[in-house]
Amino acid sequence: MPIFIFNLSRSKLKKTNEPPVKTNMEDHSRTIVHIDIDCFYAQVEEVKNPSLKLQPVGIQQKNCLVTSNYKAREYGLKKCMSVTEAKKLCPKLVLINGEDLQHYRQYSSKVSDLLRGFSDLVERLGLDENFIDVTALVNERMASNYTPVGCIYGDVSGTCDCGCYERLCIGSQIAQEMRDAIFEQLSLTTCAGIAHNKLLAKLVGSKNKPNKQTILFPDSALELMLGLQKVCDIPSIGVATGKVLNDIHIFTVKDLQSCQIRELEMAFDPLKAKHLKQLSYGVDESLVKPYAKPLTISLEDAKCLVTKQEVQDKLSELLGRLLILVKSDGRTPKVIKVSVRKYNPTTGGQRETRQCPLSVSLDNQTKLVEVAYGLFKKIITEQSFKVTLLGVGFSKFIDVPNQKNTLDGFFKQSSDVIEPPIKRIKLAKEERCLKCPPGVDIEVFGELPLEVQQELWDEHKSKERKVVSKGKVNTMLNYFSKEPRK
Ligand SMILES: [Zn+2]
Repeated sequence: MPIFIFNLSRSKLKKTNEPPVKTNMEDHSRTIVHIDIDCFYAQVEEVKNPSLKLQPVGIQQKNCLVTSNYKAREYGLKKCMSVTEAKKLCPKLVLINGEDLQHYRQYSSKVSDLLRGFSDLVERLGLDENFIDVTALVNERMASNYTPVGCIYGDVSGTCDCGCYERLCIGSQIAQEMRDAIFEQLSLTTCAGIAHNKLLAKLVGSKNKPNKQTILFPDSALELMLGLQKVCDIPSIGVATGKVLNDIHIFTVKDLQSCQIRELEMAFDPLKAKHLKQLSYGVDESLVKPYAKPLTISLEDAKCLVTKQEVQDKLSELLGRLLILVKSDGRTPKVIKVSVRKYNPTTGGQRETRQCPLSVSLDNQTKLVEVAYGLFKKIITEQSFKVTLLGVGFSKFIDVPNQKNTLDGFFKQSSDVIEPPIKRIKLAKEERCLKCPPGVDIEVFGELPLEVQQELWDEHKSKERKVVSKGKVNTMLNYFSKEPRK
């Protein structure tokens, strides 16, 4: 069980004459903070409409409850429950349609941008989670004050003397500052986990919720891992890997710890086998991968359109929403593109994209619709047509620095142009198409939290052939399509 300690100095915590627990399979030199926004979608709705705070609120996508506020959870509402079931449990439930992700994206970006003020190493995980490697900042603050802030998981006897205790305490102070900043600037409450690796930071952060933070010292890593029970409870072990493990009779974290590495190597490649073994002990060497701003910001709609007017109306609607996204992104796009899927009764149709340099001001929406329609006409030359998908997007972004009117600024802008790897984005998109359960909007699906994606998928298909891979989810469709920096 976790214990809660506030403002205790180490001398009071240090136990003596205890044999060191052998859990130090990795070095503890990093300090990682995992920040998770409490019931993200529901909180964003509450910020927009504070009267909702007093009511049970559920966010609905299709006929599925994707999250609910804590008031609603008192009724036993859970993620991925059907709306009918939720209503049965809580007849007064206020349901909000959460399929338009625009506001959520904006809040999500603001949180990550704010966290980047603390460290360049911010990795986004879905819309509501971030890993931050604060090692550099911690090292700057060493030799100051080592008072831990928040809850502490497990034992604090501190048998390791590599300095990790002090670093994690400073990390907890930084986590508190981050959470204060998010609350002051965006009115969102968050949970944080502080540990020496990503796996442990994520796991320990969920120990005390909502609006709390928890530190894990390395000595308690084993206790935390064994508390998980099933192998699939380890965040980076997905359903597919879990099934393979079960097939070789590994069900619990304890099983994974005690099995022979060669048993694992019969089912997985050696690297993966080693990685799985390490995970079971709470060892995770993976780095925080900083996110880059998206290379393309686009929106699309899979509606059937057959007339010029319908196409123009749809382009206007999409552009209206897209311009809000682009403006909140803060950069200037240099290219506009349009994607169309022409109906084909045998193949279902194939997506085609045309793009051109953007010579129109983003403030002139009417002209933008004309340009986009011009691109549409390059793909669809026939008078009579039927398209089943229409998308519009911007790419080749340049940062718009304040010094844009200076010569320096001009050259800086030119060199900041990023070439969008269009093919890779398309691949990621198609790949996720395969994984998206029928009846769920692909884009919505793609941007759901990891576990929701997985649960949704499990619900629709019990076969594990197309399981969402944890790593793939970072490649968020459109707005969140991620490429490693440089
Ligand atoms: Zn240590």
